[in-house]
Amino acid sequence: MHTMMNGYGVAQICREGHIANPAMHANPSRNKAHCTTCGAETISTCQSCTKPIRGAYCSVRYGAVQVNPLVKAPAFCEHCGAPFPWTESRLDAANDLADQLGLDIPERTLLEKSIEELVRDTPRAPAEAVRFKGIVTKAQPWALGAFKEILYGVVGETAKRMIWPA
Ligand SMILES: [Zn+2]
Ligand SMILES: [Zn+2]
Repeated sequence: MHTMMNGYGVAQICREGHIANPAMHANPSRNKAHCTTCGAETISTCQSCTKPIRGAYCSVRYGAVQVNPLVKAPAFCEHCGAPFPWTESRLDAANDLADQLGLDIPERTLLEKSIEELVRDTPRAPAEAVRFKGIVTKAQPWALGAFKEILYGVVGETAKRMIWPA
């Protein structure tokens, strides 16, 4: 078995963002070449810098490895900052939807910037959440639900609650 110490494992995640194995070395029997949810190929390294994707926190207790849950696939590579494929495809899908709202160019540009800030979960995210919701609701109120389908899994918690309150 792989020598384990307390620390983050390497995650295996499908190209659509489903977590196939939260810690590859701690639990090699769970490794899969393809996702059992959607069939997409799985990856465990960043496609830009080839460094490993950070997985679940693992700790050794009484000689056994405990794998903590990995709730959400990371959106960006911690080494080079590149978006992972599942983040990129959601950004593309969200921008495709934004194209269909009949916005004028300045609003369309603002919306695209907002979407990126929301996914990056920067300190500006709450302000961008207000802007995003305002632009979308004014243009096409139905689109808020469609954006939820695309972005819910990749937007930070605070912004998520502001845009789509339960
Ligand atoms: Zn999948
Ligand atoms: Zn990278």
